Amino acid sequence: MRVLVLATTTGYQTRAFGDAAERLGVELVFATDRCHLIEDPWQDGAVAIRFHDEAASVAAILAAAEDRPVDGILVVGDRPTVIAARVAEALGLPWHPPAAAAIARHKQRTRERLRDAGLPSPRFVATSIERPDAEAVSFPCVIKPAALSGSRGVMRADTRDELAAALERLRALLRAPDVRAERNDAHDTALIEAFIPGREYAVEGLMHHGALRALAIFDKPDPLDGPFFEETIYITPSSAREAEQHAIVDAIARAASAIGLRHGPIHAECRVTPDGVVYVLEAAARPIGGLCASALRFAPRAGGRDPVVGMRIPLEELLLRHALGEDVQTWRREADASGVMMIPIPRRGILRGVAGLDEARAVPHVDDVRITAKPDQLLVPLPEGASYLGFIFARAAEPSDVDRALRAAHGRLAFQIDAEFPLLTTAQINYNQRHG
Ligand code: ADP
Ligand code: CA
Repeated sequence: MRVLVLATTTGYQTRAFGDAAERLGVELVFATDRCHLIEDPWQDGAVAIRFHDEAASVAAILAAAEDRPVDGILVVGDRPTVIAARVAEALGLPWHPPAAAAIARHKQRTRERLRDAGLPSPRFVATSIERPDAEAVSFPCVIKPAALSGSRGVMRADTRDELAAALERLRALLRAPDVRAERNDAHDTALIEAFIPGREYAVEGLMHHGALRALAIFDKPDPLDGPFFEETIYITPSSAREAEQHAIVDAIARAASAIGLRHGPIHAECRVTPDGVVYVLEAAARPIGGLCASALRFAPRAGGRDPVVGMRIPLEELLLRHALGEDVQTWRREADASGVMMIPIPRRGILRGVAGLDEARAVPHVDDVRITAKPDQLLVPLPEGASYLGFIFARAAEPSDVDRALRAAHGRLAFQIDAEFPLLTTAQINYNQRHG
């Protein structure tokens, strides 16, 4: 058996798929954009594609699949979701339709679909970022780019002045070289939508021939009220009431089918207002990203065909099994509560060092602390930034213990972040003036 994996970057998740494939005796064929690779970890094994050129990418993958036929497909990261869907359609593999994957990647088109389906949706206007036309918006509102991810460029504005400033700031971000390099027309579009108050949740799901199976509901216990929307903590199982959890899964199932998503992983987010209305913010045609996925492990359900005591598989193995047609209903998320903290970047500057790693790892229930930012790297916080300092993982019997462990571990870390331009002392300035 062979599975095609379209990957945005190489990293933890592609390795996790590789390990899972080895365990299952499955061969993986990667397709990735070589622009994003410093070295080729797969030598000649991977299909080189260009994310911005969908037609050529699809053709290259289909040509490769003639020599090495594939039995299933998976995608890592946001950018190749539409290419993956087009390949799946051409090969007759069950997957999300290309049109649905394209809608899911575009916040304006997602909003239109949800609104037209009569689902709760914030009022919104779309505007060109170069010639903003932002009338008819209520306050507070949220400004966001149509096609970035990870809360990049997402800002709250409470007044007209704040709205104008946020649009200006978003325009500068969308003109940045790394955004332009994506050559995505959607990067000219900004959305201005009503701010939805309430608690936020993320749902990791698998669509199976049109039906949503929720793998996990994550609570986001930190309030996300702006002005920027940095995600920090994800904890599952959710502590929301049973009825609210049903309402969340139900709303996401409706949103996914309004978008047209049908088969394969989805990662969705929603907000629940104080009076209990579930607003789906987005439903992406891909699994949860990167290292965060390791917060999810699955155990065979009692009575399943393979009830090995203590057996746990990572999300990637579950997805691989599903991609090959297995009915993954026999797996359930493990009984323990689990959580991850995406360590926020506190301020802009150069990362010089991290102290307290051993102390953080020694906090009870903490599984791992991974610093992913590199020494001497320029750290850029939201809304412009696109990365975290690292990740903290914890597992415990109760979600509240996971929450406490993540915060305690974070409290033991100290980040040395220097100003981007070294500050001169008065003595140095005087010296420089005297000596020209
Ligand atoms: P991204 O795809 O970059 O993650 P989202 O549209 O999901 O962008 O927005 C990022 C975050 O911003 C959300 O998780 C939420 O916290 C906040 N947010 C976005 N839109 C709204 C809204 N209309 N009302 C309140 N908060 C919002
Ligand atoms: Ca989001």
